[in-house]
Amino acid sequence: MRGHSVALVEQRPPDRGRSHRSWLLNYEAFNDLQILEVKLRSHEIANVRFSHHHAGIERPLRAGTAYAISQDNLFAALRQRSRDVGVEVLEDTRATAPIIDRGFLRGALVDNDRELHAEYTVIADGANSTFGRNLGTYRRRDLPYLIAINGTWSSNLSNSTTVDIALDLTRSDGSPLAGYGWLLPNGNDSVTAGIVVPSTVRDVESVNLQQVLLNMVNTHADTWGVDLDSLLELGRERRLPVGGSVGPILGPTFVVAGDAASTADPLSGIGVSGAVRSGRLAGNVVADAIGEGASAPLQRYSSDLSAALGRRRRLGRVLLPVLGHKFGRFALPLAAHSRFAADALLRSTFDTSLND
Ligand SMILES: Cc1cc2nc3c(=O)[nH]c(=O)nc-3n(C[C@H](O)[C@H](O)[C@H](O)COP(=O)(O)OP(=O)(O)OC[C@H]3O[C@@H](n4cnc5c(N)ncnc54)[C@H](O)[C@@H]3O)c2cc1C
Repeated sequence: MRGHSVALVEQRPPDRGRSHRSWLLNYEAFNDLQILEVKLRSHEIANVRFSHHHAGIERPLRAGTAYAISQDNLFAALRQRSRDVGVEVLEDTRATAPIIDRGFLRGALVDNDRELHAEYTVIADGANSTFGRNLGTYRRRDLPYLIAINGTWSSNLSNSTTVDIALDLTRSDGSPLAGYGWLLPNGNDSVTAGIVVPSTVRDVESVNLQQVLLNMVNTHADTWGVDLDSLLELGRERRLPVGGSVGPILGPTFVVAGDAASTADPLSGIGVSGAVRSGRLAGNVVADAIGEGASAPLQRYSSDLSAALGRRRRLGRVLLPVLGHKFGRFALPLAAHSRFAADALLRSTFDTSLND
């Protein structure tokens, strides 16, 4: 925008730049990133297999439905695209405190000593959102969240075009646990394995998720040619606020996007699409506000986001309590034994359309 500059302030997370981990990108994320002309290096996932111990059902996906992309590649591509359009990218820079002027957010203090003044600010500082919390955002305690952890292991099947959804999570004592796991080929002699458990599981905070992840990888190691001693990287357990449980997501001069605004999908935990979509919507209302010389367009952001993510949020609020209950523990594995159940799970939890 003529006469306006944009700065991206990004504190580099500890593992950035040397992570093996990949993300599963769904159609929405891939499509939005293409619209933004972000150049991606990814490999297409053509099939999904629902596994329950040794049982399994494989379903072909519609072309262009899912991709595997390394986290580092995606972040590097986003930074490069930002630079290409004239954004000043401040890497390894932490926004430490808001600059408040007569009650309005007017930028951020970065690295404790430098002031970055801004007419409008988009806050996308992730699930913990320390900067957002500083401005008064909070997660509603009465709404569910997800807990997830992932890691990478060497695998000689990393060029597979199948993602494995494991419906056989077990606790340390071997008893079944609600939630699901995934094994995603990274395309570089390794596989990303992860698990996600809903907070509607009654004792979720006391579950050792690392052990649940190792149990899951152990169960599927033969299928994926994984050597259990070949752990390359193990992520930290992370809470994922989902389904619009965080608010407020806008103020007179700022909007909140991504995990900081709980845009991740409440059922699958897939969050890149919600982050990219909310980022686009945030960019639109800020550009309109600058164009009109008034902040009124920011008020549109909430309804735009609800229009984009509302259907999944409503479904999440109904289904998450069911998925965390023992019914979910016994119902989910049906998808590994019945094609009908597999298709139903793909359509409901993963919001994915099938080939036929
Ligand atoms: C284990 C796990 C596996 C997942 N797998 C998938 C998957 O396969 N597919 C998928 O679609 N989603 C997945 N998700 C969800 C996905 O990771 C998130 O929804 C997505 O990363 C949200 O993007 P974001 O930009 O909002 O937040 P983040 O990706 O967390 O990025 C926030 C950025 O803000 C920076 N930051 C934080 N505080 C500050 C500050 N004060 N100043 C400056 N910078 C700051 C951080 O360093 C980080 O770079 C997974 C989540 C977890 C926990």
